[in-house]
Amino acid sequence: MSTETAEFTENREHSFAADVNEVLGLVINSLYSNKEIFLRELLSNASDALDKQRFAMVTRPDADKSEELRIRIIPDETAGTITIEDNGIGMAAEELVKNLGTVAHSGSKEFLAQLKAQKEQSDVDLIGQFGVGFYSAYLVADRVEVISRSADSDRAHRWQSDAKSTFTVGPAERAGRGTTVILHLEDENKELTGEWRIRELVRRYSDYIGHPIELKVKKGEGAEAREEFEVINQARALWQRPAKEITDEQYEEFYKHLTHDWEGPLCRKHFHIEGAMLFTGLLFVPKRPPFGLFSMDAKHGVRLHVKRVFIMDDCEELLPRWLRFVRGVIDSDDLPLNVSREILQDSHVVRTIRKQVVKHSLDMLDNLAKDDSESYASLWQNFGAVLKEGLHYDPEYKDRLAGLVRFSSSVESGLVSLADYIERMPEEQPAIYYAIGTSRDVVEASPHIEAIKNKGYEVLFMTDPIDQWAVAGLGEYKDKKLVSAMTADLGLSGDDDDKAGNKSSDKAEGDKENDSSGHAELDPLLLFMRSALQEKVDKVRVSERLTDSPVCLVIPEGGMQPHIERMLRAQNADMPATKRILEVNAKHPLIGDLRQLHSRDSESSDLKEWVEVLYEQALLAEGSPVDNPVLMASRLTKLLRTAAAQAAQPES
Ligand code: ADP
Repeated sequence: MSTETAEFTENREHSFAADVNEVLGLVINSLYSNKEIFLRELLSNASDALDKQRFAMVTRPDADKSEELRIRIIPDETAGTITIEDNGIGMAAEELVKNLGTVAHSGSKEFLAQLKAQKEQSDVDLIGQFGVGFYSAYLVADRVEVISRSADSDRAHRWQSDAKSTFTVGPAERAGRGTTVILHLEDENKELTGEWRIRELVRRYSDYIGHPIELKVKKGEGAEAREEFEVINQARALWQRPAKEITDEQYEEFYKHLTHDWEGPLCRKHFHIEGAMLFTGLLFVPKRPPFGLFSMDAKHGVRLHVKRVFIMDDCEELLPRWLRFVRGVIDSDDLPLNVSREILQDSHVVRTIRKQVVKHSLDMLDNLAKDDSESYASLWQNFGAVLKEGLHYDPEYKDRLAGLVRFSSSVESGLVSLADYIERMPEEQPAIYYAIGTSRDVVEASPHIEAIKNKGYEVLFMTDPIDQWAVAGLGEYKDKKLVSAMTADLGLSGDDDDKAGNKSSDKAEGDKENDSSGHAELDPLLLFMRSALQEKVDKVRVSERLTDSPVCLVIPEGGMQPHIERMLRAQNADMPATKRILEVNAKHPLIGDLRQLHSRDSESSDLKEWVEVLYEQALLAEGSPVDNPVLMASRLTKLLRTAAAQAAQPES
């Protein structure tokens, strides 16, 4: 029995929570042209209440099982009312206050948050898209009564409000468990009591509901005239019906009911598994990312039914986190009705279902990629970063995910797949090249990719923080290794003997840290640079990748991308910075000049400063911040002054 305090034995007035007033104001003022959605919203609530009751009936031996679960719609033209009645789980008095007096519906909360965040922008778009739940009753009614009796109680209560800042809750009569919503229609909405109007609305918006919806209709003429209830929907769970009998609109309405989304899904997959195991799945991908997709406690999973009985929302055991944007329902015939979280976590049946759900989810994405690349690009934009987590966490799906990943590239302005890349790769190209950085512009301009591009090879641009891990998870595709343009070993076959593979073995011993690579005349300068920058770089050597830039910084074998390292170091100050390798372009005229200067005056203090500037410029070119911008600016000023003074001298 619920605790019924004295408060609810007489009629008492309550104030709506502040955000309810906000929602009500918006509903009444803004959704007017969509007012007929009230019926779908109230039927959806009734259906949820029946689902909860059915769950209680199968899991609790003491639950009342006498009545068939159903929803009734009773229009009354003379009184100007529409009554929607269910024999579901019902609400106790406290629940009436809480559920109908505060914004309980998370979609509404999200909507309000968005609205507040975008105050400046026009609200109109958002409002049109808003699923408002119970308060949509006020689109057509100026007064609403809710009489409800909880399945746990033998007392009923009436909630009542004209939606002007307060509502009352007090005692009432109701024969059995369930909820009755009475809409006192505004005059201009009385036409909604028409039988065919209601039939049409139910068919259009609510046909997915798996419980019978009975409409009170008049039958016969004259003395024969009588009223009876007629079932006006299919009354069969949508997912149990054969796909060919379901229209796109019906799928869409079901999806909206399931997710509270305001628009239809981007794609769907409906499947039945028969054989050793029996279950049905209906999966969707939303058009837009839900709130909090990247927060640690982001909800995920699908709705679980067992033999048509609703068991739980967000069943995480049925989908991995990297598919947390997939919505849908799974209905299993093999799980027990009283299935608990513990059973789910340890069930062979669940593991088998999960495998199938993942397979069908990936099939759904494959199909979309094949049939509608534009929609797939938008899916990738919204959920690609989530999907890529799978490469890191679930190596089992590496091959399937490799077919789904997309990157931007040096060849195309749009997204490319690894298959596209391989297809246009010149035959001799040894690897798939990629460059990691904070944005496309930075990566595209980075000196590291010069030689790769000059060879006519395509470079994939990876600008998502997760890409470093995703790429490690991928490793290779169709026997081609993925190689970072920023790492030490590029594997570009040049014509000198400095093949990438030999690098580590030909490293000189002890103090000779520099890799001369057949440019012996540069050795003294490289040694000089190494000692000038010894706090900052691990090695200075001749580059095989540069063509236009004088220098660049590369990552030693196994090292981390600089922007990732910065991100991690921001979170953990103790993490040491990796020293990188400074590569020098032996063919660059600037390097030639420096070499000459060094051979003339190996102690030159100018030279030391210029080497510092070169290093800082390498940082800037890859999009990294310089250690000391003030110092750099003053060095540049000095250099500019010298150059300007020279330029200003009259020609002799
Ligand atoms: P939502 O249904 O999206 O949660 P609503 O504003 O429509 O938001 O309803 C708020 C809450 O009121 C529901 O979550 C549910 O707990 C309760 N409720 C509404 N209608 C019914 C009903 N017919 N039977 C039982 N509970 C209901």
